[in-house]
Amino acid sequence: MESLVGKLHRCSINTATLGHRDPLPVVVDQIAQAGFGGIAPWRREVEESHIPTLARQIREAGLKVTGYCRSTYIPAINRATFRANIEDNKKALHDAASLNAACFVMVVGGVPEGTTDINGAREQLAEGIAELLPVARSVGVPMALEPLHPVYAANRSVLNTISQAMALCNLVDPSNSGSLGIAIDVYHCWWDPDFFKSTMCAGQANRILAYHVCDWLYGTQDVLLDRGMMGDGVIDLRNMRHAVEDAGYTGLIEVEIFSKNNWWKRDVSEVLSICAERLESVC
Ligand code: ZN
Repeated sequence: MESLVGKLHRCSINTATLGHRDPLPVVVDQIAQAGFGGIAPWRREVEESHIPTLARQIREAGLKVTGYCRSTYIPAINRATFRANIEDNKKALHDAASLNAACFVMVVGGVPEGTTDINGAREQLAEGIAELLPVARSVGVPMALEPLHPVYAANRSVLNTISQAMALCNLVDPSNSGSLGIAIDVYHCWWDPDFFKSTMCAGQANRILAYHVCDWLYGTQDVLLDRGMMGDGVIDLRNMRHAVEDAGYTGLIEVEIFSKNNWWKRDVSEVLSICAERLESVC
């Protein structure tokens, strides 16, 4: 496995890491000037921009877009809402294409509030992904299904392991059109005893589209907004990257840290320089 020392061009910053404090055009320059090779912006900041201008700025700054965050949740309490969710995702796929994003990150949604039908939610998910697949193919941006830690199964994602995400890929897109794969985020997958086996399967099937890093703090205070900086927690980051790259992933390593009470309160330049140092020393 190649060391990341001096290889920041192989690394990307998810803008959530910086706490969404500055406007996106400012953030693009901050990330590029710090030497990173990629950026992963969020829809709420992109949709308030003039997208062609933004895309040009990102390109001229020399940044790749490692992912466009993220899908509207798919499972819904009724058909009208389900339809609206699908249409929303189709529009976002077009925006992802305008940004030349490497993938559209799919955080797929949980159990519709007020129901107990997790199986039904998973069926809606398969139906929705199947409908979005030809759109992804036509705009040329693959969808990256991101399995989330099972603690989020109720309200964020009924897709919870790499092997479950792979099963969905194989169900909806059995011949691998190149338009459907997975995003592996260490925060969600580090605990999985099948991580190494399922990562190898996903890589051999050419389905790994993104790799996200941060850390799980030993005494985490909040499973959503208290992610740790790489090296501050319990995740076996080196072995996980080794597995992902051994399986054939050659894309960028994206830092994604939601940290309301720590990293989001620090200076952006400090956060970026510590990200760089930890990518080089512990990832
Ligand atoms: Zn992620």
